[in-house]
Amino acid sequence: MFPQHPFIDGKSRAPREPQRLQLTDPATDEPLTEVSAAGLAEVDDAVAGAQRAFESGWRDLPPGKRAEILFAVATILREHADEIARLESRNIGKPITDALDEAALGARVFEYYAGAVSKFFGETIPVARGGFNFTLRQPMGVVAAIVPWNFPFPIACWKAAPALAAGNCVVLKPASLSPLTAIRLGELAHEAGLPAGVLQVVPGAGGAIGDALVEHPLVRKISFTGSTEIGAHIMQLAARGIKRVSLELGGKSPNIIFADADVDKAAAASPMSVFANAGQDCCARSRVFVERPVFDRFVEKFLETTRVLKVGDPADPETQIGPLVSSQQREKVEAYLAAAKGREIIGGDRPAGRGAYLRPAIALGCETSDPVWREEVFGPVVCIRPFDDEASMLREVNDSPYGLSGSVWTNDLKRALRVARRVESGVLSINSHASVHVEAPFGGFKQSGLGRDLGMSALEGYTELKNIFISED
Ligand code: NAP
Repeated sequence: MFPQHPFIDGKSRAPREPQRLQLTDPATDEPLTEVSAAGLAEVDDAVAGAQRAFESGWRDLPPGKRAEILFAVATILREHADEIARLESRNIGKPITDALDEAALGARVFEYYAGAVSKFFGETIPVARGGFNFTLRQPMGVVAAIVPWNFPFPIACWKAAPALAAGNCVVLKPASLSPLTAIRLGELAHEAGLPAGVLQVVPGAGGAIGDALVEHPLVRKISFTGSTEIGAHIMQLAARGIKRVSLELGGKSPNIIFADADVDKAAAASPMSVFANAGQDCCARSRVFVERPVFDRFVEKFLETTRVLKVGDPADPETQIGPLVSSQQREKVEAYLAAAKGREIIGGDRPAGRGAYLRPAIALGCETSDPVWREEVFGPVVCIRPFDDEASMLREVNDSPYGLSGSVWTNDLKRALRVARRVESGVLSINSHASVHVEAPFGGFKQSGLGRDLGMSALEGYTELKNIFISED
């Protein structure tokens, strides 16, 4: 029922060293399954195989043929959406309704980039010396895609699909906690017609194989999503070989509510902008700024909405908040709540029974120096503070090393645009909490990242720009 091994050169392959990743079902704390971990030998094999696949055909395939295969991958992912969603839900406790949406999102990403193959091209440039000058967008070679455990399947898809569409081959390393859907992605894509070696999947501990993958001489680009700490480490390793990197890292996103907004609508929409995925979301709106005249009304409605959120079994289609990914992750979150003792904390308790569950926590009265306000908690915890004027609120918003996402709620168009320009983040929504659109660039300012996933921008990150001049003399 569960995938077992790395997927290399079109085959499920038991590694030479018998290292295992033990997976636990976070909804029950019971052992779920074991996956064999790739070692250094498998990393070498996977990269070498990907390079062979690149040179022996994938890079030179007519774009139409590449598009046809990627459309077939999208189709097979749709056909297996239930299976993918169930795997993800059992593996990391994601509510099944969200897991189904994310399986569909993965398929949509493949469709989008299958269509994009024919719409991404160079330019002709009228250079001063005359002649004919044009640019090409060329694939890089082998791309290492390293992904986290919070949105394992969609992030694997949104790295693999554009890289493959641009003509690269990919070695995908899922997080140790969430290898199952990544392995299925490799298997299904191959079944749909992706040639052997074009998408390799190497589950394994980042500490054991991550550096070797990043530093492998045949790896030309590292596309990473994860913590700022590991992102910085990867950037340092990559610097030695001047390797291309794109990094999608942590966040501490603001949610700004002005008094002229539709406050009830904002308050009803805001709890799930931070508590969805049990708060394990890089875009979580975990710092809420509310203009003082509507502060009490906002908080009251926010609490009312939070009280009826359904926390429970991820297999139940009605569940909105499942367990955290592990009991260790829950303990990390609880440590933030314990350290915020002097503040008013509403909720944040463990429901009775098994599993890594935690009820949503709302912190009031925080200072901007509190760790729970400043740091990425990565759990269902929100801090709500009042503000009095726009300028000082913006200073507090931008007083963060992060700059990934955010929301502004107001009915004053001029204010909306002024504030949207000032907030230091790569993604911002007005009167909405949307962060991710397949068709639009996604990524962070400051320590939230470098480069962009999704949209046509992602294709730029998976290609080298070459200039060619033809003399007419
Ligand atoms: P993480 O600990 O940084 O791990 C991310 C990935 O890096 C995992 O596959 C991990 O493998 C691997 N890794 C660890 N050490 C490595 C090394 N030395 N070399 C190469 N790879 C290594 O992050 P996480 O805990 O999985 O995910 C949570 C973080 O991701 C949060 O900070 C969140 O904000 C961020 N995130 C950002 C975005 C975004 O788009 N900006 C989206 C989602 C998540 P192991 O699992 O085996 O350690």
